[in-house]
Amino acid sequence: MPLLAVEKSSTERATRGVMNALSFRSPGQFQLEEKPVPKAGPGEAVVKVRLTTICGTDIHIIRGEYPVKPGLTIGHEAVGIIHELGPGVTGYYLGQRVLVGAITPCGQCEPCLGGHTSQCGGPLGGWRLGNTIDGVQAEYFRVPFAQANLTPIPDSLADEEVILLADIASTGFSAAESGRIRLGDTVAVFAQGPIGLCATLGAHLMGASDIFAVDTDAGRLKMSMQFGATVTLDGNHDPVNEIKTRTKGRGVDVAIEALGHQTTFENALRVLAPGGTLSSVGVYSGHLSVPLEGFHAGLGDQTIVTTLCPGGKERMHRLVRLVETHRINLQPLLTHTFQLDNIVEAYRLFESRQSGVLKVAIRVS
Ligand SMILES: [Zn+2]
Ligand SMILES: [Zn+2]
Repeated sequence: MPLLAVEKSSTERATRGVMNALSFRSPGQFQLEEKPVPKAGPGEAVVKVRLTTICGTDIHIIRGEYPVKPGLTIGHEAVGIIHELGPGVTGYYLGQRVLVGAITPCGQCEPCLGGHTSQCGGPLGGWRLGNTIDGVQAEYFRVPFAQANLTPIPDSLADEEVILLADIASTGFSAAESGRIRLGDTVAVFAQGPIGLCATLGAHLMGASDIFAVDTDAGRLKMSMQFGATVTLDGNHDPVNEIKTRTKGRGVDVAIEALGHQTTFENALRVLAPGGTLSSVGVYSGHLSVPLEGFHAGLGDQTIVTTLCPGGKERMHRLVRLVETHRINLQPLLTHTFQLDNIVEAYRLFESRQSGVLKVAIRVS
């Protein structure tokens, strides 16, 4: 019955050329609002959203910790069907089901052609949806540079199987990839939220031997064993000492930071063997300082690398292939489902971290 009501009002809105979208107003103020259905300009597409989700970054936005302009539609992870194709977009058809990555590079500029598509047009410039342009927590959204950013989804795969590829899987895997994990490497992953869990899975896929998963939440540590961790460590019980002991004082080849806190960054550095790589995908605010002893006074042949979620259709296509070939299953991360009409409630749950919530699926159509 509620589904029918939503369907009816959504159809009624469509006849008026409007849609519902989650709009940021001011810190702490965000709500569903009616907005015009976007139109596709040259090189753009409009996608009718089927499924979206909420990211930790969206929480920073609604709290006002990451500034966006008032009235912006937020959200940057979406599966939907192509509703309109602008001039110049070829090889796709209306009604085709597609995945759009959180990062939508142009594929033409200097950073893109240099292989840094996330930094398209300038620092963090590839992150447009729900940041510099209207995002995807809406019934429709406009895809910039559509030719580079629409990834067809095979019929055999459900929306829920691919939605998390848009951001957290791509980000988590990139932590392992940027860390250049080699077969048999020892890896520590600090924080086992959705991105940390995907980093753990990435380390497993890349052939790490010992994978130490660190978090303070028992439920998340339990989940990390499903995602390839070999040892789980309570972040409150001196994980640095634990890892040092378990590696006979040597430390790990690759330490992944997936939270963006001073403590986890420091701990990642302190467990790093000389010559090792600290791969960081956390989002930091304020000042970050480096502990000298973990840094070997700056002479430890260590590498510190940072990565923003890789996007674009080529990246998304490869991640879809991992699902299609049953190499990964991200569905255990989708712990709750809400309708778009109840998205504010979904934000409250996601923000609270109660009820074992990891990721919240938002069903739009
Ligand atoms: Zn995100
Ligand atoms: Zn570019």
